[in-house]
Amino acid sequence: MDITYSKRPHDGLSCVNRLKIFTARQLEQIPQVRRLPETTRRAIRIVARVLPFRVNRYVVDELIDWDNIPNDPIFQLIFPQPGMLAHEDFERIGTLMDADAPQSDVEQAVREIRLRLNPHPAGQHLLNIPELGDNRLAGMQHKYRETVLFFPRQGQTCFSYCSFCFRWPQFIGDEKLRFAASQTDLLQRYLMKHREVSDLLLTGGDPLVMRTKRLTSYLLPLLSDEFAHVQTIRIGTKALSFWPHRFVSDPDAAELLQLLEWLVKNGKHVAIMAHFNHWRELSTPMAREAIRLVRSTGAVIRSQSPLLAHINDDAEVWARLWREQVRLGIVPYYMFVKRDTGASRYFRVPLAKALQIYREAVTKVSGIARTVRGPSMSVGPGKIEVQGVAEVQGEKVFVLRFIQGRNPDWVQRPFFARYDKHATWLDHLRPAFGKDEFFFQPEYRNMVDNAKLQNIDAA
Ligand SMILES: *Cc1c(COP(=O)(O)O)cnc(C)c1O
Ligand code: SF4
Repeated sequence: MDITYSKRPHDGLSCVNRLKIFTARQLEQIPQVRRLPETTRRAIRIVARVLPFRVNRYVVDELIDWDNIPNDPIFQLIFPQPGMLAHEDFERIGTLMDADAPQSDVEQAVREIRLRLNPHPAGQHLLNIPELGDNRLAGMQHKYRETVLFFPRQGQTCFSYCSFCFRWPQFIGDEKLRFAASQTDLLQRYLMKHREVSDLLLTGGDPLVMRTKRLTSYLLPLLSDEFAHVQTIRIGTKALSFWPHRFVSDPDAAELLQLLEWLVKNGKHVAIMAHFNHWRELSTPMAREAIRLVRSTGAVIRSQSPLLAHINDDAEVWARLWREQVRLGIVPYYMFVKRDTGASRYFRVPLAKALQIYREAVTKVSGIARTVRGPSMSVGPGKIEVQGVAEVQGEKVFVLRFIQGRNPDWVQRPFFARYDKHATWLDHLRPAFGKDEFFFQPEYRNMVDNAKLQNIDAA
């Protein structure tokens, strides 16, 4: 690699350059938290016993407005809130903790509550795990024909945790709930065999918590001819938001930029699948410098986010987010509906309202920012977009379509559900026009049944 980037931290960017992480145990070491009322701190401690908590100093100091607690969107994004647990669960853990109950009692209660939070939405374990000979490749998912997801074992954490994250079971150390891979050779053999795969998506956690050296060992081999069909390398990351220093001032930031540039120069499309929930995350000098540097490598930054109550359930927030992204050269990509897992009761937004926010936000921006699709639900059968509300022969309906389907033939076919202003997820929706099932359901049921049979055979 013959490309060089300055390794020095950039002058004039005032910030702490070393990643300082706080977990639940170090909560009281955060100066801003120490100044919060005891009731708020107790609530954080209780919820953080059940759901993952992790934050770094940059997020605390530069993204959160501590004069606006608890409503600040980034505070809501990071810090556990009492409403994230059912009232009785919150009280149960609170009582145990206040009474200094034995660890094993608290842990038992925590386990029970976690299992009720739907740790495995959308049948990911049953249906998406690819196979190679007799090996089940546990650190991979292959759901849509063109794209393979790879979860490198060293990338199973993040620079901070989002309180709404559907990957939360991966962070609480429950081995059964984890999938992660360490073997690059299996990934390579799988990709070699599957010529239909055009995209590799490195995901996590956040794969950019890995050192550049490790990342290079995963990605550089893909430049050889056997992988010519893998034309796009996507990296799913929230580093631009939570730790932009990863691209600017980390000891191996320059090498990371070189790697991206090298992949681009050798014919790959490199897509940084960034995750921005709020325009505030784009506002710091460090974030802007990171975005500038990533773009200078030829990689394209695309942005996606779920729509979340308490954080961004407001059309103006989205319009500003997209406008700001376009200004900085980021392509708006997806607006997701919050999955039905973890603290979903706290964050969920009815589909009807999500649609309204999407429409209102899209109408405020020019066509350049209307590359964003949504609101989209990731469910077992595929990614389903709520396109609109219509009235057909006197019946009010949601118009839906697959953006991605487990069967590619399902994609782009409009279908209809009865309008329901409270529905927050696909399984609340009923087919319109007196039908019993959506068009894809019999075929999907077969897929699930077959997978179950195969699993029993293998056991
Ligand atoms: C969203 C997603 C992809 C990528 O889909 P695109 O529409 O190509 O961005 C791939 N695999 C899984 C499991 C997904 O959820
Ligand atoms: S950065 Fe991504 S994977 Fe990590 S907690 Fe946030 S949403 Fe989840």
